Amino acid sequence: MDRDEIKYYINKPETLKERASKICSELYGNRIFVRGLIEFSNLCDENCLYCGIRKGNRKIKRYKLSLKEIEEIAKRAYEFGIKTLVLQSGERGSEPIQKIVELVEKIREIDQNIRVTLSAGIRSYSDYKILKDAGVNRYLMRFETSDEDNYKFLRDGLFLKDRLLAIDNLRELGFEVGSGFMTGLPNETEETLINNILLCQKYGFDMVGIGPFIPSPDTPLADFEQSGIELTLKAAALIRIALPLSNIPATTAAASLVPNGRELMLTWGANVIMPNITPKGIKENYLLYPNKVCINEDFEESIKDMSSRAESIGKVLDFSYGDSKSFISRMATS
Ligand code: SAH
Ligand code: SF4
Repeated sequence: MDRDEIKYYINKPETLKERASKICSELYGNRIFVRGLIEFSNLCDENCLYCGIRKGNRKIKRYKLSLKEIEEIAKRAYEFGIKTLVLQSGERGSEPIQKIVELVEKIREIDQNIRVTLSAGIRSYSDYKILKDAGVNRYLMRFETSDEDNYKFLRDGLFLKDRLLAIDNLRELGFEVGSGFMTGLPNETEETLINNILLCQKYGFDMVGIGPFIPSPDTPLADFEQSGIELTLKAAALIRIALPLSNIPATTAAASLVPNGRELMLTWGANVIMPNITPKGIKENYLLYPNKVCINEDFEESIKDMSSRAESIGKVLDFSYGDSKSFISRMATS
């Protein structure tokens, strides 16, 4: 899509929704892929202004799950039928990469075919290579905003070009690559949204995660005004049109902003959900933003709830690997 086409759709939301949901059902039927999200540590070396677990927030209790705890959760999820796990944490360049390798190896012992996604921020090329060799299949790292100045402001002095370089490295190493952005960040305009879409299109991400920015207490942006869910829905639908073969999750942030946020995203082009399988009593410390849903329930309950929510919009949960069609076609032609 070019700039004008994106603008056209932004001003015609009903047409946009219809087109995106048609593409989605043609490619994925009524199926929604399920991933299990394990928030394995809230330790972070960075100070992103938007984030509740930023290094500067001294009010939260820091944790790191042990290998044994992670193994237990992964086994429980596997027995439930979840074949794709997403391991997420703060960005910790100071942590030896071997620590993450051990964790991946533990999960691989359960079943060699489990798809492992890591989301732990920027690391060096050689670290990513070690992770790839250890069996990490996918990597998730949003670029957050395509506006260089705003990125630098919001990530407390870091550079967008470094994030994009890391994404290039992941791609070169053969990962299935996910990225994405938040909607409604401070200093954002319609142009930013358009540029975000164009950046995703240019990179051809295999997965695009989009969620509303939700101001978090005890961060410098605590008092920033909350934008509505519409921006997120439009962004998801635009991505479905720009990158039909990419997986798009209906994000927890959307559900935290409005109760039916995930169902809405699923009718605006999203095709993935990521139930949080971090143990109860621990996930309450992984508060990137407030009012996070599913904090007080076991994952089996959340999945049951998601299953009936899916049914309410004529969809069903799909527990297969759900490799990105974009990745499959990229690999076939490389
Ligand atoms: N530390 C890693 C992964 C964990 S953060 C990283 O930064 O990549 C995962 C995502 O949470 C971020 O990419 C960001 O888009 C999102 N996030 C952080 N704070 C948020 C907030 N206040 N509202 C909504 N999403 C937020
Ligand atoms: Fe750390 Fe990620 Fe939060 Fe930034 S968004 S502070 S890197 S956890």
